[in-house]
Amino acid sequence: MEDPKKPFMESEVAKIIREKINGTRKILKDKISNIHIKGLLEKYKNTPIAKRALAAFMIVVIIGLGYTGYAVNEIRTRAFDVYLDGDNLGSVRTQEEALEIFNNVREELSQYYNLEIVFEEDISFEPTHTKDGDLVDPQVLKNNIQSKVEVLVAGYAIVVDGEEIGVFKSEDEAKSLIEKVKEPFLEKIAEGDEPKEVNLVEDVQIVEKEVPLNTLSNPEEVLEYVRNGSEEIRTHIVEVGESFWTIAKIYDTSVEELELANDDKDPTKLKPGDEIRLLLPKPVITVETIQEVEYTEAVDYETKVELDDSMYKTQQKVKVEGIKGESRIKAYEVRHNGIVVDKEIIDEKIVKEATNEVIVKGTKEPPKTVATGSFTTPTRGRITSRYGMRWGRMHRGLDYATSHGTPIKAADGGTVTYAGYRGGYGYMVEISHGNGYSTRYAHCSKLLVKKGAKVYKGQHIANVGNSGNSTGPHLHFEVLKNGVHQNPAKFVR
Ligand SMILES: [Zn+2]
Repeated sequence: MEDPKKPFMESEVAKIIREKINGTRKILKDKISNIHIKGLLEKYKNTPIAKRALAAFMIVVIIGLGYTGYAVNEIRTRAFDVYLDGDNLGSVRTQEEALEIFNNVREELSQYYNLEIVFEEDISFEPTHTKDGDLVDPQVLKNNIQSKVEVLVAGYAIVVDGEEIGVFKSEDEAKSLIEKVKEPFLEKIAEGDEPKEVNLVEDVQIVEKEVPLNTLSNPEEVLEYVRNGSEEIRTHIVEVGESFWTIAKIYDTSVEELELANDDKDPTKLKPGDEIRLLLPKPVITVETIQEVEYTEAVDYETKVELDDSMYKTQQKVKVEGIKGESRIKAYEVRHNGIVVDKEIIDEKIVKEATNEVIVKGTKEPPKTVATGSFTTPTRGRITSRYGMRWGRMHRGLDYATSHGTPIKAADGGTVTYAGYRGGYGYMVEISHGNGYSTRYAHCSKLLVKKGAKVYKGQHIANVGNSGNSTGPHLHFEVLKNGVHQNPAKFVR
């Protein structure tokens, strides 16, 4: 008969012991005491008493060995799970080593940023058991802490009209950014006097707040944004003498940009009053500079009108030529980001008075230029030659001998159809009276009307002279009816 204990001892019990030594815990202990031991007792309850005693002894040994193995193992694997705000970062053997890493991370960040760092998260520990091989590597734990912690720093936000445009690591950095925004506009006016005032149009404040380290702004990027902001469309009304070039200069833009924004306009055909679109950067912060300026400005003269009842309404003459004056002006010039937006005159001294222009206007109703149907004697003078045959030739007019320069008047109203030099007539005026009649005035020294002019009866049209075929100053006067010469004596004396 085979001994049933032997194979049992060598196989199952040995296995149980191995398992225990390998780190089975309380559960295994329970198993041993509750299940397997019960099983063993069950299995051997019918064996002889000696066998039972031996089995009981073996059970005691097994339990003893198991417990010792367990106890040794329990102490050796004691560890702590590291938690950062609830996240398990792995197990460490002692809390101290994890705390040291945690503090190192904080110190390194403080040194790197030169800032007092606060960690929002708390580090905490839970007792556990971990084999050496399963402990977290210190470097891995450090990396985990670095990536998990949210580093809060005392930041300084620049707030423009209630909107935060950036948070900076120091108040100085925020302040210096605002100064940099002002800089270019202070340089622009620096040629003259110190600006009287430099303001920011928007409400700009520096507000302290705790922010995560990685949300601190890059001052260069924020400056760029503040300067350029978004583009804004504005318009400019063209004034006399302006071109794209002069307008581009005013707004600190380029001719190309203006042409792009105004592709519907011909740059060579700008007229005063034209509206030009300006695509200008709308800065987030508007720097207002107020500067005292001094300049000379032309002062317009006034025009005064004098009335003269000896002149016709249609006549006017300049009695006194107007001359512009000059005044020296002191003003506060208000610029927004370099562009003049307002001017407040504080003093104005006239250095040269303007000379007012004086114009004389007639009040007399002008005579009608239509023919009356009767002729008036065209000049003062003695009739020296009449219409008819003279020295074997036909004399087609009436000669009035008088002194050189004596005024010649239109015999009736009408339209000048000729005014100029014509052969033997010399300087001559011909008037068509619109009723079939026309009159001619020859040998003039001076003509006062031009072809096409409407003249009224008695209007001074020329002066007596000696031009053309003439032997002394006189007026040769002709009258024609439908192109046929008439004897003027029938119409005038
Ligand atoms: Zn004559």
